[in-house]
Amino acid sequence: MLSKRSELPPRLATKLSLESLLESAGDAVFRTDRIGRIFYASQHAHNIISAENGLEGSALATHILAEDWTLMQEGLTEALAFGTTCRVNVRLNTTEGILWFELQITAYETDDGQVEFLILCRDIAEQHANEERLRHMATHDELTGLPNRFLLSDRLRMTIAQARRTGVGFSVLALNIDGFKKVNDALGHPIGDILLRVAGERLREALRDVDTLARVGGDEFAAVLPGAVDLNEIQTVARRMISTTQLPFEIEGHLLYVSSSIGVATYPQHGDNEVKLRAHADTALYRAKEGGKSRCVIYDVDKFNLPEHDVSMEAAMFDAVRNGEFRLFYQPIIEARSRQIVGFETLMRWEHPELGSIPPTQFIPMAESNGLINLLGGWALKAACVQIRHFEEAAGRNLYVSVNVSPRQFRNDQFLEVMDDALKLSGLNGSQLLLEITEGILMSDPEHAETLLTAIATRNVRVAIDDFGTGYSSLAYLKHFPISVLKIDRAFIKDLPESIKDVAICNVVLSLASHLNLTTIAEGVENEHQMHFLTKQGCAMIQGFLTGRPLPPADAIEVLKTGVLPTMPVAEHAKLPA
Ligand code: C2E
Ligand code: CA
Ligand code: CA
Repeated sequence: MLSKRSELPPRLATKLSLESLLESAGDAVFRTDRIGRIFYASQHAHNIISAENGLEGSALATHILAEDWTLMQEGLTEALAFGTTCRVNVRLNTTEGILWFELQITAYETDDGQVEFLILCRDIAEQHANEERLRHMATHDELTGLPNRFLLSDRLRMTIAQARRTGVGFSVLALNIDGFKKVNDALGHPIGDILLRVAGERLREALRDVDTLARVGGDEFAAVLPGAVDLNEIQTVARRMISTTQLPFEIEGHLLYVSSSIGVATYPQHGDNEVKLRAHADTALYRAKEGGKSRCVIYDVDKFNLPEHDVSMEAAMFDAVRNGEFRLFYQPIIEARSRQIVGFETLMRWEHPELGSIPPTQFIPMAESNGLINLLGGWALKAACVQIRHFEEAAGRNLYVSVNVSPRQFRNDQFLEVMDDALKLSGLNGSQLLLEITEGILMSDPEHAETLLTAIATRNVRVAIDDFGTGYSSLAYLKHFPISVLKIDRAFIKDLPESIKDVAICNVVLSLASHLNLTTIAEGVENEHQMHFLTKQGCAMIQGFLTGRPLPPADAIEVLKTGVLPTMPVAEHAKLPA
């Protein structure tokens, strides 16, 4: 054997010993002619690929999956054209099934001028599986194995592009499991997790292969149904999804009953981009929940009472988010006795390039109805917490920040997460954050309010009742919920101290607050008479044009540095103690 090998031409001998070397390293080795026909296959190659008539003489391509032929052909061409070793990943038909291999293709010329290929096949099944696993982890939800919000976003963009090309629309569904929280709270997260996993499986089965079902939050799912535009058809699918979640869940000896609500938006009727479609599906979902749950509501501009002229405004709002036209202003809040600035309330502004400054009273309700409030509110919370740290630096002392939270934000599953992020991002103490909510929020879903407020309290974050006195007359909730601050509405302040009724109301509120150990902030204080009266009656803090109009951050920093409030009469009280 040895003597035979030594008779071979020196170049080939080197090649063959290289081949045996490579083979001993675990690679399969082939040599083929210039059209890819095998004339040499190493022992290892024979072991992994079984060919009825032997490997020699067969085309390498016949052992490769047809889908990967083009890749291999490109590899051969490239190796030939550039004279380098070219690597391609293909699937081979092996004795153990279809497996991934990396082919290292080198072209060389024999002594008699023939072009041949040396092809090393390295088993990368494991590496490939690892890569696949990583890719899967980044794009899928760990618990249910369903696509996550990133993959959903990808699929949505793809589906939009496809719909543009073909002119055939599609629909986006937002789904919430009704009653999930109860299960989770009563039986614990492990059972809740199983419920979600099984619900995910059932929902997936209720859809076609071309549909995407994603888990986008706690008990929130979203689906994209290409081609589904007929409202009856959508309702049928939605009913199927709702029914499947209504079947009992048998988990660790518990028989559990839940249901689901669905909101739908269709392309292009309800939006031509991802943000709009998802927000409108969300809005419809809230309608479904408000309407008694276990139902599907399809977004409808007319039914949802958005005045006609608001539609273009609404469209502009989505652009505004993209263009960064929203700003935060800060209104100083002072301690009544010392007149020192102790904090700021964050107030949002929309600087429209043509329409100018649009007041929040106009755009917040719109954002609330189309779902954008979650995005805007989350941004405001984070930005405000970060901003207040800069204010503290300028002031050289601790300050607090007050942020308005709308009902829909408060209901959103992700609210706590966003708040925790804001605190972490800014390094602000929980006690330096005050969330302003209205009485209505507490009344509409007291159960949820209690859970959320308790969680908020564990972070030392305080909660204020905004516009106190204008909403519900029931005061029972003050005893029930962990509330720290009452903000007396401007309606009761503006005619002070002349109006006897307002004097009476303010006195009652102040005494109530003092008995319940709540802090009071008077809102909309515009003059010294009001200020004087409120201070005398024991109101702890004052906010209003007298303490300053809402200011852009740079102006607020100026005020903190100089200690001069822009609107306070200089002679009397303008100089604030440092
Ligand atoms: P609000 O929370 O009651 O905020 C107080 C409003 O009164 C602000 O109006 C403020 O500029 C105005 N104001 C303050 N002092 C005086 C005063 O002395 N006299 C008078 N006449 N007005 C005064 P703004 O900024 O137009 O905000 C209106 C409402 O929009 C806010 O009422 C709040 O409910 C909502 N809002 C503002 N920013 C946000 C936000 O970031 N998120 C949410 N969810 N709502 C916001
Ligand atoms: Ca407020
Ligand atoms: Ca208010």
